[in-house]
Amino acid sequence: MYTRKDKKRSSGSTGRHELSELGEFGLIDHLTKNVQIKNPGTIKGIGDDAAVINTGNKLMLLSTDLLIEGVHFDLTFMPLKHLGYKAAVVNISDIAAMNGVPKQMTVSIAVSNRFSVEAMEELYSGLLLACEKYHVDLVGGDTSSSVTGLLISVTITGEVSNEDVVYRNGAKEGDLLCVTGDLGSSYIGLLILEREKQVFKVNPNMQPELDGNEYVLQRQLKPEARTDIYNLLKGAGIHPTSMIDISDGLASEILHICKQSGVGCRLFEGKIPIDPQVKQQALDFNIIPSVCALSGGEDYELLFTVSQKDYEKIRILEGITIIGHMTSPAEGTKMITPDGVAIDITAQGWDAMKKRK
Ligand code: ADP
Ligand code: MG
Repeated sequence: MYTRKDKKRSSGSTGRHELSELGEFGLIDHLTKNVQIKNPGTIKGIGDDAAVINTGNKLMLLSTDLLIEGVHFDLTFMPLKHLGYKAAVVNISDIAAMNGVPKQMTVSIAVSNRFSVEAMEELYSGLLLACEKYHVDLVGGDTSSSVTGLLISVTITGEVSNEDVVYRNGAKEGDLLCVTGDLGSSYIGLLILEREKQVFKVNPNMQPELDGNEYVLQRQLKPEARTDIYNLLKGAGIHPTSMIDISDGLASEILHICKQSGVGCRLFEGKIPIDPQVKQQALDFNIIPSVCALSGGEDYELLFTVSQKDYEKIRILEGITIIGHMTSPAEGTKMITPDGVAIDITAQGWDAMKKRK
């Protein structure tokens, strides 16, 4: 991972390297490149939405996510109940991305004395509401004090059969690239909340202007996981060849599938499903609407590929959009604009997250 060039760029004689040189995914690759699987039951380790473990009967899925105040959420506009709900949902979404069914969850929190018992009750009411809705059991966790605000770490298990499991690495040349729901809404919701926060800072007597924005605010504050897609696709007789959930943005997730599957892609910008109101709101913010979908993130929709032979079956499914197809790796990872210009798909990853602070 580190090249000579990287070394030269680093400061001092101790060979210190900045995390920003690697970025989030580079850091994960770097830290885990020598990890070797020792147990035959570990079917899939690092590199997918969840690990896959053979338990003798069905496969067990295992995934974890960490949410940190000031990085992943801002409590000035994120109600604690919503935060609890979202913390559960983002994990459930990773199980849905493996085509599995969520089962158990552990929740660890670190909390500073800035928070009251009532505040923590709010957090848990949201968390338990999501557990209720998605039929997940809360089975444990850990509690600690914190000096830097609130931290929530959720670990989830899920179940999937050998036939049903879908990885990021199964996409083939010629497969259709599909997405559920619409994209970019959650990011617009965040921009509106941040705008109202700035207005409030300048004049605390101003009432936030949130009317008419219910859809995007709900997408940001109370996202849902697409556990329904398992049945929809199964009912239609479709088995995706690869799948991932959209947490970081469409661009980043497409690149994950391409890299892991060893394929290229053609994404058609004009086909990306964006709610008409969101398109207008993006333009009001002076942002190209597709950029919200490509780099915004937190939509928790599913991105997947299906074999071309399933075209007739997938085409008629409501709430699913075909946005492109997979190509040979030599053709690169390209987005075709409505006027036919091919541009390289790039992901911002960690940098995009920094921008959101
Ligand atoms: P997701 O966006 O689906 O949560 P990530 O991009 O966070 O997935 O992680 C990609 C893969 O890297 C996953 O398999 C995850 O378990 C693994 N991973 C992430 N961080 C670490 C870490 N610090 N140590 C080991 N594995 C990690
Ligand atoms: Mg994921």
